[in-house]
Amino acid sequence: MEKPKIAISSCILGNNVRFDGNNKLNAWIVRVLAIHCELIPVCPEVAAGMSIPREPIRLVKEDGKIKIQGTNTATDHTSLMEKTSSEISAGLIGLSGIILQKNSPSCGAEKVKLYNSTGTPVSYDKASDDHRGIFAKIFINENPQVPFIDSGRFLDNQEREKFLRKVFCHARFNKLDGSIKALQDFHARYKFLIMEYSQGDMRKLGNISANSSRIDPTNTYKNYAQILFSTLNKTPTIKNNINVFEHLLGFFKHELSSEEKKIFQELIRDYKNKLIPYSVPYKMIDFLVQKHQQYYLINHYYFNPFPKNLMVTE
Ligand code: SF4
Repeated sequence: MEKPKIAISSCILGNNVRFDGNNKLNAWIVRVLAIHCELIPVCPEVAAGMSIPREPIRLVKEDGKIKIQGTNTATDHTSLMEKTSSEISAGLIGLSGIILQKNSPSCGAEKVKLYNSTGTPVSYDKASDDHRGIFAKIFINENPQVPFIDSGRFLDNQEREKFLRKVFCHARFNKLDGSIKALQDFHARYKFLIMEYSQGDMRKLGNISANSSRIDPTNTYKNYAQILFSTLNKTPTIKNNINVFEHLLGFFKHELSSEEKKIFQELIRDYKNKLIPYSVPYKMIDFLVQKHQQYYLINHYYFNPFPKNLMVTE
């Protein structure tokens, strides 16, 4: 598979582009992620012609509009930063993800500090995107299906895994040849992973890919992508995970003895009661698939959504 393309705030790659001449290096990204993904550095502030070092900037809400201003001099960089951010965003073609430096008034994806015109912090409002950096806001608005994560969430193993699942799914989807057959194959290999997020959406996607109403392939792909990428933004629940485990075990009803079936049911019960982590029944079912070379599941992306060594934790 061709490497997925991920744009990334340049300072995370260790480039000394921050206002203070430093960086925000994430060594794992440089050492491990870069092997499996093509990383494209972006620094909107430097691209806008700002010097290194430079006066720090911050988000300010004035007359209902979000501006980006020098922290000490209140120099207004809003128009320049908006223009540069739009240009960078338009030039980022074929991306399957973006990793954004947290808390930055340019790159921060969420909870960036915002001030009013008198310099008082404005409290965080989850429902608005006022606390999103200028570049991040423009990029996310223009590329709603491209998965994004900030550098803070990326440190959380579960968040990182969710992000990587989406990135590789996005890259595979974008490589399909546009035929209904390719979409059906894709759906067959992704259906159990999608089912973890929503069984209803998995069915809807199955119907779309079946294309029984003979919609033209371009629109079929468009409809499929719209539901797929919004589904992957949901969070899998324990109930959904159990549902998937039980469906998968159904493939082994002839191979497992009644004693073995009982053991698996007990594992699932323990997971439901939060006595063991998700990874235990998941790995046991993966073992069954490998052991019995179950032809329908062996190449399923549920078991290998992305290269295995991207799971390695620091
Ligand atoms: S956070 Fe964004 S704008 Fe700031 S230094 Fe890093 S890449 Fe540049």
